[in-house]
Amino acid sequence: MHTYVKSIVLAASLSISMTSAAKNVETTSPDGRLVVNVAEEGGSLSYVVKYDGSEMLTKSRLGFVSEFGDFSNGLTIDSSIVSKVDNEYSLDRIKTAHVHYVANELKVYLSNKIGRYTVTFSVSNNDVAFRYEVPRQDRGERGCIRMMKESTTFNFSDKTTSFLCPQSDAMIGWKRSKPSYEEEYVLDAPLATKSKFGKGFTFPCLFRVGEQGWVLVSETGVDSRYCASHLSDYTNDGYEIAFAMQEENNGNGTAEPAFALPGVTPWRTITVGKSLAPIVETTAAWNTVRPLYTTDCKYKYGKSTWSWILWQDNSINYDDQVAFVDLAAAMGYSYTLVDCAWDTNIGRDGMKKLADYARTKGVQLFVWYSSSGYWNDIVQSPINIMDRAISRKAEMKWLKEIGAAGIKVDFFAGDKQETLRLYEDILSDANDNDLMVIFHGCTLPRGWERMYPNYVGSEAVLASENLIFEQHFCDVFGTNATLHPFVRNAVGCMEFGGCFMNKYMHRSNAKGNVRRTSDVFELATTILFQNPIQNFALAPNNLTDAPKICMDFLRNVPTTWTETRFIDGYPGKYIVLARKSADKWYVAIANGTDKEISINLANLPFADKQLVECYADSKDGKPTLAEVKYRKNAKMRVTPLSGVVYVEK
Ligand code: CA
Repeated sequence: MHTYVKSIVLAASLSISMTSAAKNVETTSPDGRLVVNVAEEGGSLSYVVKYDGSEMLTKSRLGFVSEFGDFSNGLTIDSSIVSKVDNEYSLDRIKTAHVHYVANELKVYLSNKIGRYTVTFSVSNNDVAFRYEVPRQDRGERGCIRMMKESTTFNFSDKTTSFLCPQSDAMIGWKRSKPSYEEEYVLDAPLATKSKFGKGFTFPCLFRVGEQGWVLVSETGVDSRYCASHLSDYTNDGYEIAFAMQEENNGNGTAEPAFALPGVTPWRTITVGKSLAPIVETTAAWNTVRPLYTTDCKYKYGKSTWSWILWQDNSINYDDQVAFVDLAAAMGYSYTLVDCAWDTNIGRDGMKKLADYARTKGVQLFVWYSSSGYWNDIVQSPINIMDRAISRKAEMKWLKEIGAAGIKVDFFAGDKQETLRLYEDILSDANDNDLMVIFHGCTLPRGWERMYPNYVGSEAVLASENLIFEQHFCDVFGTNATLHPFVRNAVGCMEFGGCFMNKYMHRSNAKGNVRRTSDVFELATTILFQNPIQNFALAPNNLTDAPKICMDFLRNVPTTWTETRFIDGYPGKYIVLARKSADKWYVAIANGTDKEISINLANLPFADKQLVECYADSKDGKPTLAEVKYRKNAKMRVTPLSGVVYVEK
């Protein structure tokens, strides 16, 4: 479906309050339950976030330091204004198709002896977004700014526990290609737990504020005009906004973002809920951003095969790629992803021949590239094409000529502004050539589904490849799979490349790492992991050795959803999640623990006694499909590392 983006501000700038030289200003969500209070004390600025009267964020700092002065001290609140925001937008690539965003927007106008700026808070019923807006300074003479440091913090009460992913150190890992948001989360940890590398934590960051509820902190609207940020280790003032490390990009490029004035920082988002439903269902990543360009291309989302995940590097040859095109055709999939080293192993003439062959089967190609460049030691080719406009544009013209559907660009270099510029330039050039873009070895997407119409997914997670690399990741997959809907996948598309029907993570399906999760658990991940293009980890042998009911399910499962509803669960333990596509609800139940759990079926989106299809694992671990009558008051026992999937008939 064509990306349809529409945004109308129905009522802007309805002034509710105007104060002067206040010490304290606040606004509430439209339902009044979420409150943001901004206070000036001794020239410093802080904010507090309350929900139903409880402090979800305790006193946290605001402000920043520029290259020409400190904007965090000596401040006065000159005035403030609250206006209503009411707009609607449609997006065909996120967890829901239509969003009606209603919020109260508080603008706090500040000045000190250095200059002036505004902090803007947009407060909807469960989400806060805020940013700094900086006009030209020095009576209009100064038209640019370098942000040396943000004073922004996120602080919590002592009873809070954290669910966090450490930021990697720079220039480590495979061919020195980190950070790439591929670290292991630490769950339910005490507030002051140190990060693994001492470099803080990547967005999104989940917190449980005792029995009072949950908070998810992230950021959105990050494009070429800023760096991507993360949170520092915990300090007495809370977690601080931290910029990219100077050591990223092999030390090249500044760590401090800069932009023209007037200009704005990215939105920092705080999602708050008594339960986990507002966290899993949040649209905070998209509510406050806007499309940066339009497109004439009707991008088509769908399912794809890729040889690399199970057959690895040796499979990037013409014959094996034909086998995966044939597999895509047999499954009714739209795409085949040709991974690294196609340029040397298949060649450009061979790729054209492969694309032509695929077309006869109704299949189009996604083509892999390294992003680098000077910023790592990657040998997987093609390299040195996507890193600059001259070679990139010529390459994309060729991709369009052979009829490729998109590109997968891998191995970026971290979070500096110049890397953000590269992401944006790749997306923009690709759109000029009707190409969709998937990023791997990359940063978290920050509102990009709405900002860039041809953006279709990012890895930025310990994805399926790790199940091939190490048994450990197979052993903890139950935890990871039941974690991502609450964290990584809550704020952006997640191109995981999973759903294995192989029992062994190897081409032979007879040796290698052992899959611990059941077949129906794997099916459940196709609903749990949301990305508009799904590169499933199937291989040709699955056409004959995998259960027919599973393969039929994988032929038909949608990759886009009109609605997402959290039913039950706990991060890293289990989840019950419902997603709707067209007029059908799909319900995924996954038990990621090593204990049997009992699931209450009261709140599934079905009528009592409605007939639904039920995929479940039998006692001996075989997948079964039955038509069952849904009972609203029933309970179900789910065995360890297994799942249940309901599909509306
Ligand atoms: Ca990766």
